[in-house]
Amino acid sequence: MNTFVPKRAFFEPKALEYPLGKEIYERLQAMNVPIKFTGSHNRVTGIPGTTPQEAFREAKRTMVVGVRKSTEFATCKPSAHYQLPLNTSCPSMCEYCYLATTLGKKPYLRVYVNTENIFAQAQRYIDERAPEITWFEGAATSDPIPTEYLTGILYKTIEFFGRQEFGRFRFVTKHDQVDTLLSAKHNGHTRFRFSLNAAAIIAKYEHITPSMQDRVIAAGKVASAGYPLGFIIAPVFYFPGWQDEYENLFATLQERLPVEARKNLTFELISHRFTKRAKNNILDLFPETTLPMEESERKFKYGQFGYGKYIYQPEVMKEIKETLEIKLSRTFPEAKIEYFV
Ligand code: SF4
Repeated sequence: MNTFVPKRAFFEPKALEYPLGKEIYERLQAMNVPIKFTGSHNRVTGIPGTTPQEAFREAKRTMVVGVRKSTEFATCKPSAHYQLPLNTSCPSMCEYCYLATTLGKKPYLRVYVNTENIFAQAQRYIDERAPEITWFEGAATSDPIPTEYLTGILYKTIEFFGRQEFGRFRFVTKHDQVDTLLSAKHNGHTRFRFSLNAAAIIAKYEHITPSMQDRVIAAGKVASAGYPLGFIIAPVFYFPGWQDEYENLFATLQERLPVEARKNLTFELISHRFTKRAKNNILDLFPETTLPMEESERKFKYGQFGYGKYIYQPEVMKEIKETLEIKLSRTFPEAKIEYFV
């Protein structure tokens, strides 16, 4: 995947009162990115697109730079205590992106420049719970890597948590541009996770993302830089030849990961599921999709927020779970499988 270059940018005027806002402004100007101003990062008008597909594509090339006003962080159970609000969205176009249902029709990329206020709030949450450890998730509403070369926000965040005795950070990415983060003083306090899938699934459904091989190479670099490493294998699909495809993924990991990365390694395994709403969104944006979303083949499961999801039938779930657990325990006996859902 090529480096993300916005087609247009919008700034809240207040963003230029922050050094980071000015830096981003100058960088984008030097790249000849057309820049306009907007009253609010929450209500950006002026992104073109007459069909849902066009509006979606244009939004994915639009960067909005703003100041985060709310000081409260959303909770992020069960994986962390809080979401760390650094940015939203991502330029890639995975057909099953979990953000498609939460960010609306125009999921433009948003970054916040008042990082010091955000860190101060994180510090308050950490102090409230100390000496308990407080975990923050940095990818609840975004993939934070593609804009990192323009903002440096993730680097600063990793170093902030590197200095925390009782605060920890985790995020996940499908991207491979990790070089600028390798020198950050993380102090082992950031778990750097990659979202992976079988190569055939990535090629088919994860548009404008790096290949499985490239992500694994990036994971190797991150592990060599001493970061605790994790993988989310998601969504796992059940299709003819699925076992070989996932076997191949684990073999690639086995080949590429440095030995020292294997001790403190985590895996999160998520089988494919969809809600009615997600299915409708996906069909709007990718009318030709071949994603398996036939309700009659699935089991309906009520969710905790009043909406239900379609998951694989129990016997399929059992087969996926057992197969992946066996394969992983053979390949990475020291790794921890955090959960399978
Ligand atoms: S990389 Fe992640 S955030 Fe970006 S489109 Fe794909 S699933 Fe969504």
